[in-house]
Amino acid sequence: MIVLKRGRERSLKRRHPWIFSGAIERVQGDLKSGDTVPVRSADGQTLALAAWSPTSQIRARVWSFDPGASIDAAFFRARIEQAAAFRAALPAARHTNALRLVHGEADGLPGVVVDRYADVLVAQFLSAGAERWRDEILDALVEATGCEAIYERSDVEVRTLEGLEPRAGFARGNRDARRCPIAEYGLNFRVDVEAGQKTGFFLDQRENRQRVRSLAAGREVLDGFAYTGGFSIASLAGGAQRVVALESSVPALEVARENLAANSLDAARIEFVQANVFAHLRLLRDRGAAFDLVVLDPPKFAPTAAQVKNAARAYKDINLLALKLLRPGGLLATFSCSGGVSAELFQSIVAGAAVDAGVAAKIIERFGAAADHPVALEFPEGEYLKGLLLARND
Ligand code: SAH
Repeated sequence: MIVLKRGRERSLKRRHPWIFSGAIERVQGDLKSGDTVPVRSADGQTLALAAWSPTSQIRARVWSFDPGASIDAAFFRARIEQAAAFRAALPAARHTNALRLVHGEADGLPGVVVDRYADVLVAQFLSAGAERWRDEILDALVEATGCEAIYERSDVEVRTLEGLEPRAGFARGNRDARRCPIAEYGLNFRVDVEAGQKTGFFLDQRENRQRVRSLAAGREVLDGFAYTGGFSIASLAGGAQRVVALESSVPALEVARENLAANSLDAARIEFVQANVFAHLRLLRDRGAAFDLVVLDPPKFAPTAAQVKNAARAYKDINLLALKLLRPGGLLATFSCSGGVSAELFQSIVAGAAVDAGVAAKIIERFGAAADHPVALEFPEGEYLKGLLLARND
């Protein structure tokens, strides 16, 4: 049993699912990593059942706020069925066979992330509790989806905070997963589930790719941080006159070229450039290049609040350069997926970039993550992706 310090039950009462080490008064019993443990307030009220994580600052994560619940195979089956049913009812489910099926805390499953790429699932077990129930969760996923192949990508840094070793490979079934074919709004993509970034594809940007597609007609597009060509191919499909895609990763560019070939699009209109965006934007500026639509979707510069200062500098740098490359009437779709950078901070960084660039611009739209990546109201930390659509003001 975990007994909390007096007054430290407040966040739990608001259904926030994390219990930090500093909130714990004492622990009773011989708890092992991943054990399910009742959580009590100082006055003896049982508030939740949580997974014990002895090495993490987040010492326990709540499975249920019902003290009478049973945390067992049936519990995970029910949560996963609920998560799957929510996705099946989303409008996007009619336009793609690739969706995030389980999004951690937002689906009542802290530490569990599952993406579906057609008939292949990719799972991540990121907490001690998730690790403990791995088998039950995998069985429930097979049952809820009918997918027989589940590739595990628990090869991420955060596992070490939980005292867990990295793990990657097929957890269920087996097949070639280096090029899983998916379709998104009529466009074909190949997903490298084994070696790609994150779980292989950035599903959170699906609706934003579609939005950019609708804005691209007749425009010259620059796609910074292109990965496997998501925004580039969407822009081309939307009638872009020309697309320049910048990406530093050679394997990502290889998949991007295959993605281009997998669609009936005019390949002559797109140029993939292996480059560092920071340097290449300067090069383009020095050459006097100009574009009508620029997309900036960089990796997370600030995973946590500690890296915010450097991240802010990096965001300002690329946004300043991008704004300078815009023709009059041009659009900039700019994103940040840094958990440590709030939407307000991101907007003020971009505003600073515009001032320094000497470019007047206005916000005409705001972006977030797609609906299969929901944010639980009681867990606002779950919000990470934000974006702005700016229009040059002349
Ligand atoms: N927009 C993409 C996802 C981008 S993820 C999509 O919709 O699929 C960010 C990408 O930026 C990764 O592919 C990473 O390899 C690339 N990257 C990171 N730093 C870079 C840099 N300095 N220059 C160019 N690309 C970079």
